[in-house]
Amino acid sequence: MSDKMLAALKTKRAAGAELIEVNIPQPKPDEVLVKIKACSICGTDKHIYTWDKWSQSRIKTPMIFGHECCAEVVEVGSHVKNVKMGDYISAETHIPCQYCYQCRTGNMHLCQNLSILGVDINGIFAEYAAIPEICCWKNDSSLPIDVASIQEPLGNATYTVMESRVQAKKIAIIGDGPIAAFACGISRAVGAAKIYNLGMMPFNLDICRRMGADISINVTTEKKYVERIIDETDGGVDVVLDMAGNKNAVTDGFNILRRMGTFTAFGIASEPFEFDMANNVVFKGANVIGISGRKMFETWYQLKNLLDTGKVDVKPAISHRFPFTDFIKAMDLATSTAVPSAKIVLLMSPEI
Ligand SMILES: [Zn+2]
Ligand SMILES: [Zn+2]
Repeated sequence: MSDKMLAALKTKRAAGAELIEVNIPQPKPDEVLVKIKACSICGTDKHIYTWDKWSQSRIKTPMIFGHECCAEVVEVGSHVKNVKMGDYISAETHIPCQYCYQCRTGNMHLCQNLSILGVDINGIFAEYAAIPEICCWKNDSSLPIDVASIQEPLGNATYTVMESRVQAKKIAIIGDGPIAAFACGISRAVGAAKIYNLGMMPFNLDICRRMGADISINVTTEKKYVERIIDETDGGVDVVLDMAGNKNAVTDGFNILRRMGTFTAFGIASEPFEFDMANNVVFKGANVIGISGRKMFETWYQLKNLLDTGKVDVKPAISHRFPFTDFIKAMDLATSTAVPSAKIVLLMSPEI
């Protein structure tokens, strides 16, 4: 095996990235070296690629970014116990310390000393990557590589939906990106009674509908949608899953939430904004839940059950597949405001 590999590197503290040859990483004692089969582009990667304010303050260059992948284990570190050569894995991207209060009380995903794959350490937009054993999730050999690669964001949607207890409830999913689309599919699979989906892009609203949304609302063209939802649900939906996070989404979300309803926040606003706590939460008796990452590893088991049994079909949300060598083209599409896309998967062997 040559000691060089192709990797997507953030070399400059500016927009863009470079696809260049670098050394294959050496796994540390508690890590495995994996050969990437497929990887996918996340919102976080778009931030890093376009070099927004958050990236400027968080990312140290040079760095290989990317964190959503599936891969084959080709080397194991000396302290690795349960992951073996040849295992087909996906990566949990939250790397926990395993010693802090959160880690020791069943909440590793909220570790106080958390580092994130492809953000704080080198990631997986490369032919090979070193991944801590604790972050390896073993896949069944039958799981298609494009689906295996997107389990990390699918896990975000699964965790959001499962914490929100949507069964037999009328719910609203705000946002129309891939994780909102996944949330539509998972909510449908676990028994939501009626799903409203609020978004802005016809291309993406259509994907959410194919994933399971009953009613799509384009908030840029439809007027009086808040009144309409309150009217149709006799006072508001039982649950709001906010996958957008901006001020308008949060405002709409609380406006369409019934009293004593549950508002689950996953979307992240780019800047802090003013929020009416008294009317939105206190007087409404609202239950507010925050979601970060995936429950390690309860969410992964739940997701496996949904995928194994065919209860969720995620294919409609994968809008594009590219060979990894077209990485820059794929990132340009992912960050384009002119051409719509949903989940973009990059394949290492283009013939697959
Ligand atoms: Zn991601
Ligand atoms: Zn910890």
